Amino acid sequence: MTKTYRPRTALVHGGARRSQFGETSEALFLTSGYTYESMEAAEKRFTGEEPGFVYSRFANPTVRMFEERMALLEGAEDARATASGMAAVTAAILCSLKAGDHILSSQAVFGSCRFIVETLAPRFGISSTLVDGRDLDQWKKAIRPNTRIVFLESPSNPTLEVIDIRAVAEIAHAAGALLIVDNVFATPVLQRPLELGADIVVYSATKHIDGQGRCLGGVVLSSKQWIADHLANFLRQTGPAISPFNAWVMLKSLETLDLRVREHARNGEAVARFLEDHPKVTRVLHPALKSHPQHELAMSQMEMGGNVMAFDVKGGKEGAFRFANALDIIKISNNLGDAKSLITHPATTTHQRLTPEQRAASGISEGMLRLSIGLEDPQDLMEDLDAALAGI
Ligand SMILES: *Cc1c(COP(=O)(O)O)cnc(C)c1O
Repeated sequence: MTKTYRPRTALVHGGARRSQFGETSEALFLTSGYTYESMEAAEKRFTGEEPGFVYSRFANPTVRMFEERMALLEGAEDARATASGMAAVTAAILCSLKAGDHILSSQAVFGSCRFIVETLAPRFGISSTLVDGRDLDQWKKAIRPNTRIVFLESPSNPTLEVIDIRAVAEIAHAAGALLIVDNVFATPVLQRPLELGADIVVYSATKHIDGQGRCLGGVVLSSKQWIADHLANFLRQTGPAISPFNAWVMLKSLETLDLRVREHARNGEAVARFLEDHPKVTRVLHPALKSHPQHELAMSQMEMGGNVMAFDVKGGKEGAFRFANALDIIKISNNLGDAKSLITHPATTTHQRLTPEQRAASGISEGMLRLSIGLEDPQDLMEDLDAALAGI
């Protein structure tokens, strides 16, 4: 593309590189290495005098197309893809840190992200503090002169807590720290953290970016400078490279991302309203509902509420199990952002390792279910939910 187009156009054409065959659909370069015309050419490729690829742990044409398309969508200067969302989060957090630095994070984050911040980093002399991300005073009190990275997820998994990204970015910047936002639940279509002041955005591309439950992948997006100074060399030397095949699947999926995410969100909102009115459901958490404790903040930073919700059914764990076992279309799975609607019971699966006290503090009750709404007909989904709820 010769100029900058709007996101929906970038999603279809952005980053495309055509080979000598002029193929319409982007090519899959399933290659680990590259050949050179001469020893001199190899030498120049390695010094950087001549542009080009040298090894797929560093860069690959298909992976590069995916990264460039993601950067155009996000409005970021540059991006790097990784083998999974956790590889992206780990690299983004650790690539610039050293012993003596401090990480500040919200506590309502994906379990493995919490492990990186709370358990892994401190083993190497990088201290960390977790705060209730909804309370700006806690961020202000916990930030330190040696805080280098501030990390948050909004909306959070699984209780859909919303954090004021603009305000936390200001607190981070005043202390000279960088803000990383894990934007998986909102997706790049519905929330643009860089415009809200974040410095780095990370994704598990495994979720809505693939969107059809096939491949693992991750993406880190930021300024050219930060990627060149910190991330690029960390990835090059430690090697969490995405397979070109997975990058190709993700790249082609981006062409329909905007359509899918908006339809997911419309379905999600319809189902959330249906559950809210249902007598067997005691609580529904979805950012687009007026009853969400931070509904206004959510709608000031997200275009729509997304497709993931949490809700409590009557009868605690037993009620939740009986209900979920009776579902027909909606599958029991701990994944999310899939074309298929998926339901999980966080207390016994994704958040099983937390103590009951930690779960209670995070708002995860024994009767709570997390539901990721897919692309089925929402009427069928509501009928499925209604029939299963009748059995509680
Ligand atoms: C799934 C997920 C991750 C981890 O991604 P993987 O691709 O499974 O490694 C990180 N953060 C959030 C919010 C997620 O939902």
